Amino acid sequence: MTDVLARPMFEAEHREFRAQVRRFVAERIAPHHLEWERQGCVPRAIWREAGAVGMLCCTVDEQWGGAGADYLYTVVALEEMAYAHAPGPGFAIHSEMASPYVSNFGSDAQKARWLPRLVTGEAIAAVAMTEPAAGSDLRGIRTRAVRTASGWRLSGQKVFISNGQLADLFVVAARTDDDAKGLSIFLVDAALPGVQRGRRLEKMGQHAQDTSEIFFDGVALAEGDLLAAEGAGMKCLAHGLARERLTICIICQARAEAVFRDTVAYVGERQAFGQAVAQFQNTRFQLAAVKADLTAGRALVDRLIGAYRDGSLDETTAAAGKLWTTEMLGRTADACLQLHGGWGYMSEYNVSRAYADARVERIAGGTSEIMKEIIARGIWPRR
Ligand SMILES: Cc1cc2nc3c(=O)[nH]c(=O)nc-3n(C[C@H](O)[C@H](O)[C@H](O)COP(=O)(O)OP(=O)(O)OC[C@H]3O[C@@H](n4cnc5c(N)ncnc54)[C@H](O)[C@@H]3O)c2cc1C
Repeated sequence: MTDVLARPMFEAEHREFRAQVRRFVAERIAPHHLEWERQGCVPRAIWREAGAVGMLCCTVDEQWGGAGADYLYTVVALEEMAYAHAPGPGFAIHSEMASPYVSNFGSDAQKARWLPRLVTGEAIAAVAMTEPAAGSDLRGIRTRAVRTASGWRLSGQKVFISNGQLADLFVVAARTDDDAKGLSIFLVDAALPGVQRGRRLEKMGQHAQDTSEIFFDGVALAEGDLLAAEGAGMKCLAHGLARERLTICIICQARAEAVFRDTVAYVGERQAFGQAVAQFQNTRFQLAAVKADLTAGRALVDRLIGAYRDGSLDETTAAAGKLWTTEMLGRTADACLQLHGGWGYMSEYNVSRAYADARVERIAGGTSEIMKEIIARGIWPRR
């Protein structure tokens, strides 16, 4: 997108896919995003359209209705949404955070039930881990699933759930026992009696994203709604973390590149003291520093993508990537907003919304402090 570093891993087929996705995003998403932000949600129909373009769950096997594409297709889909400043449609959560639970741990029956519809966008998925009193520390989860004659009864409350108002499938973490191994994951059909959507929460950014409270009031689940095995929750959670954090790295790097692109254009046009703002040495140095960050970030993110593709991306490295790219996006958006002056504070400018949208990346998917904890554990392993 910016001329930061060459990206030889992409081949002609990826470039064709990128052109197709870029066209779709420019025509069907970008022009409506501000309106969706005012509405606090995106229309359901856009999911079906994205599915038709092949942007959802790119890597799902053909056996389950997917394209069985390589991971670089996913990278393209994530980047094109970020380049267009379009965090509203929660495609990344759906494709890269929720659906992989089904792909990686689902039984054939669970895969057959959910994956084909997740690929087309007919069904929308969300991850429901966080609770009012349990975010960083998931051992505090109180949502409970109790065995019944025919399956399970699920009760509890979740909060901050992205895609909360639209989701058809909630991947829910619930306690099935009181000990440390007593966490299990359930695939919960949102249409079941007792699943209630609470408030769509007001946020400082990402206004088109329907982050919500979700309640489970004695929801009757079948035995076949349990993912993997009873007590396998922590194992399933840990398995997906590197990919989740890589997703955030990819998005943050692309958003930072988009903010830089817009800012270079703005300062080239904007006049002050008889010259373009771009001609002030401060502007040139600020944007030079941003570009140095983008260069380092591009090298890092593409290396992380390579490591994920060859199966060598470990939890500590993914955490380091998340820490660095989310903080880099924060300082890039801040510096670029400043160069827009007052207009940078106005929501009609992308940089204003990008600044507010960026803030959550240091919190969701594991806070910066938790990333530091994970990295520190690699330096001083527990005995
Ligand atoms: C917009 C948005 C969307 C989200 N989407 C989802 C979603 O789709 N699904 C979902 O399940 N969750 C989602 N979350 C929840 C998100 O993952 C949590 O907010 C995050 O993990 C932090 O948990 P918490 O908010 O409970 O903060 P807390 O855990 O209460 O943390 C408060 C502060 O304490 C610090 N802290 C905690 N533990 C430690 C420690 N050991 N050492 C040092 N500092 C520590 C934290 O870093 C933070 O600064 C979303 C959150 C937001 C804001």
